[in-house]
Amino acid sequence: EKGVTPTITLDGKDYVNFASNDYLGLANAPALVQHFQDGMEKIAQIGSGASHLITGHGVWHDSLAKSLAQATGFEAALTFSTGYMANVGVIQALANKDTAIFSEKLNHASIVDGAILSRAKVVRFNHRDYDQLEALLRQHTAPQKLIITDHIFSMDGTIADLSILQKLAENHACALMVDDAHGFGLPYQAYSPFQLPFATPQADIYVGTFGKAIGTSGAFVAGSSELIDYLINFSRPYIYTTALPPVLAYVTEASVKLTQTDSSRADRLLANIDHLVTGLSVQGWQVGMGHAPCQTAIIPVLVGENALAIKLAETLKSAGFWVSAIRPPTVPVGMARLRFCVSANHTSEHIDDVLAMMKLSRQKL
Ligand code: PMP
Repeated sequence: EKGVTPTITLDGKDYVNFASNDYLGLANAPALVQHFQDGMEKIAQIGSGASHLITGHGVWHDSLAKSLAQATGFEAALTFSTGYMANVGVIQALANKDTAIFSEKLNHASIVDGAILSRAKVVRFNHRDYDQLEALLRQHTAPQKLIITDHIFSMDGTIADLSILQKLAENHACALMVDDAHGFGLPYQAYSPFQLPFATPQADIYVGTFGKAIGTSGAFVAGSSELIDYLINFSRPYIYTTALPPVLAYVTEASVKLTQTDSSRADRLLANIDHLVTGLSVQGWQVGMGHAPCQTAIIPVLVGENALAIKLAETLKSAGFWVSAIRPPTVPVGMARLRFCVSANHTSEHIDDVLAMMKLSRQKL
């Protein structure tokens, strides 16, 4: 019925929400809600009224794009209505049948769909298997090559190694595209000019979304001015859709600036991640997907069988905690999991309480 983080309400009952991408708790932050209302007063308009290239594009879209370029250290940026459209829009505009796309196996569905739509040859490489990627880059000759990866993987909470990917791209005359939907606005954002040392060189194409840490809705692509000019002219999901409501651009810009200047929410998020990961690990659960301890707000607890994942999620639900049981085909057979998503809006008590329930479940296994 209502709510985002820390609680959602269903049938009159409140649940502590551990399944949202509202990582910084900005979706309902009072200061941003107020800014949105002020924006409505000032702009006095809901819809943009047209697509960007007709009359929908306004000063707020422009101003947001400039702030996004600054927040990522790229030359220019372009907003899209959703992250799904941004990914499809870039890939479809840049790749064609002369392109080989090297796509990470765990990439988001919108990357998979964009690649299909582009008619490029798609070569998949295993999750974080950069030796295999290198072999594939050697093996496939194509006039154009493009590597595409998520930065933070949404079902595993793992992190791509962007410096290795950058080197591979350079060595094989390839472009690199990074989807940072689950990192943008967070302390682990890729290519943040606000975190020193600033990791140069950058990817060629950066995608970020507003529906997660930023707490609003929509997305953007950042890159060189030449790339952005090209997308304005050739990206069909940019050209043939209604521009975002101007007030959404207005409030999104404020939220982006907040994430780049005020670290208090990010600090709370990092403390909450540490609290939950440590607590679950001490109880003996398999936390994270192997190669490194969980460092992001996406915390998978691997349980294996679907029935067990569902049972655990239902037990948590009856105790007032909303946690997703993620099962095949979203993840491989035998790798069902509970996926906790932590927010800065969770209190230490919320985490202690869910840990107490997990402990009880563990004792009953
Ligand atoms: N990329 C990734 C990695 C995502 O997780 C998502 C959202 N689930 C998207 C892109 C799409 O973003 P949006 O929700 O804005 O369409």
